[in-house]
Amino acid sequence: MIMPVYAYGEPILKEIAGEISRSFPNLEKFIADMWETMYHTNGVGLAAPQVGVSARMFVVDSTPMYNEDGSEGVGTKKIFINPEMLVESGVPWHYEEGCLSIPGIRENVQRRPEIKISYYDDNFEKHTETFDGYTARVIQHEFDHLNGVLFIDKISPLKKQLIKGKLSEIQKGFVKVDYKMKFPKR
Ligand SMILES: [Zn+2]
Repeated sequence: MIMPVYAYGEPILKEIAGEISRSFPNLEKFIADMWETMYHTNGVGLAAPQVGVSARMFVVDSTPMYNEDGSEGVGTKKIFINPEMLVESGVPWHYEEGCLSIPGIRENVQRRPEIKISYYDDNFEKHTETFDGYTARVIQHEFDHLNGVLFIDKISPLKKQLIKGKLSEIQKGFVKVDYKMKFPKR
């Protein structure tokens, strides 16, 4: 089932999401719906708060990013449950990020290129892994969602001022998207 994506301004996007347990209701179905929604929206990542569920969980498939620009690496397709960011290292690099919850806006965001993260998979087995490049960036972006942080919170006040108008349009639903969204002011 494709779920509506919660738009900028929805309070759940600013909340700190809670850890989930094995007894999370219909977890298997919810995970399947997360994948379906992410692929339907052409996203490379989707966090549970973006579909209105305040849970520490996100899905990532960074393979299209590597295929697009022909760079080395193959990307990663994975679900991350109750992740813990252990290390972020290397010299920060910037990249123009976007977000399914903030359609039509892309801004350069600085992030460190290498991460070490622990997480549980859908069988609740724990893993600790390192990632870099685009995959690390997508994971960092999605991980931020679990703490109520959006990529536009990481840009300069001046840049944020410049997109203020667009952000208020998004909240009202005055935005063209080809997927279903839930807007706070409509
Ligand atoms: Zn996002």
